Amino acid sequence: MKLSARAQRLQPSATLTITAKAKALKSQGVDVIGFGAGEPDFDSPDHVKEEAIRAINKGMTKYTGVGGIDELKDAIIYRLKEDHNLEYEKSEIIASVGAKHTLYNIMQVLFDSGDEVIVPAPYWVSYPEQIRLAEATPVILDTKEAEGFKILPDDLRAHINSKTKALILNYPSNPTGATYNEEELRAIVDVAMDAGLIIISDEIYEKIVYNGIKHIPVASLGEDIKKSTILVNGVSKTYSMTGWRIGYAAGDKEVISAMSKLQGQSTSNPTSISQWAAIAAFTGDHQVIEDRTKEFEQRKNYIVEKLNDIPEIYCFDPQGAFYVFPNVSGYYGKEYNGKVIKDSLDFTEFVLDEAKVAVVPGVAFGSDDHVRISYATSMDDIVEGINRITEAVKKLS
Ligand code: PMP
Ligand code: GLU
Repeated sequence: MKLSARAQRLQPSATLTITAKAKALKSQGVDVIGFGAGEPDFDSPDHVKEEAIRAINKGMTKYTGVGGIDELKDAIIYRLKEDHNLEYEKSEIIASVGAKHTLYNIMQVLFDSGDEVIVPAPYWVSYPEQIRLAEATPVILDTKEAEGFKILPDDLRAHINSKTKALILNYPSNPTGATYNEEELRAIVDVAMDAGLIIISDEIYEKIVYNGIKHIPVASLGEDIKKSTILVNGVSKTYSMTGWRIGYAAGDKEVISAMSKLQGQSTSNPTSISQWAAIAAFTGDHQVIEDRTKEFEQRKNYIVEKLNDIPEIYCFDPQGAFYVFPNVSGYYGKEYNGKVIKDSLDFTEFVLDEAKVAVVPGVAFGSDDHVRISYATSMDDIVEGINRITEAVKKLS
């Protein structure tokens, strides 16, 4: 059967592909350490699971309103107010099947062919593909390692023209872990506002921040800014609930209503049981989140130090999320067994073959000098995996 041009152009998700590859090798008995998956190794909290069981037993197993039940919207509104003093009405909130789906819907209802959307790189793998699926053009804005992978206002200005419709922000960033303080954020947002851009702000890692940093949502910077911003978040990362598939958007009523119409013709509501579980997550005890973030920080400190001890690797110290994005280009041009490492794909293949460690090539995130390592895995695996990489790269000369 001939596939649509759209389907033929679509690239598979590199993060999901590597994760699946590592799982497949493991099930064949290969002793692989998986640093690919961007999902917390922790289980979903008990009170979340209990609420889901209660929902099943109470028969909460039917279709719900397309954009989620009122109780879920109330719980999201409560969280935004409690955490950031942000006020939204129910008509400004929609729940979807994970934040990936939320983002997909946003792109579909906002963009047309001819529109340009600025995507700061390194970027999460799905943004450019989702923009292209909406027939728009992703315009990549490269950030520099030396600048802490942050967008500089002048660089942003230089990428804007009359076709530019929106800016994607993602902080703490997947894959770099970079985030912004209020001053830096304001400087970027001012440029976007001057140009009349819509800001799509993916803040899914907001709770996973280090060194006592407090996350500042774009929408909290002022009423006008809030009106131009669609805030995206979800339960996957904060509450270790990747499999439940609940994400949400908060923003302009008209956009939310268009997303609801699209959802009504595609997926309908996100799973009813997951919606109840998400309510428990948003309204329940948050101590567990703090404890887990501390644990992530310890792992991060270990991994950054060990990677920086490797002669040809430089590893930026992230301020949030659960990834490191080491620069491995010092090994490019070196070889082992007659095979020259030319790029991040070769390096990824080398560590998988020689160290049995799965990492994601940086090229999938728009930076071929790097690889992404997720430390959302046990400390034992981290110690073993980093040791294996340290030993393997010694073979390169
Ligand atoms: N945004 C970013 C930056 C992510 O890393 C992820 C993780 N896959 C998502 C959105 C989507 O998360 P989910 O669909 O699980 O809510
Ligand atoms: N966001 C995670 C990652 O970057 C999960 C995989 C995905 O949805 O892309 O690995």
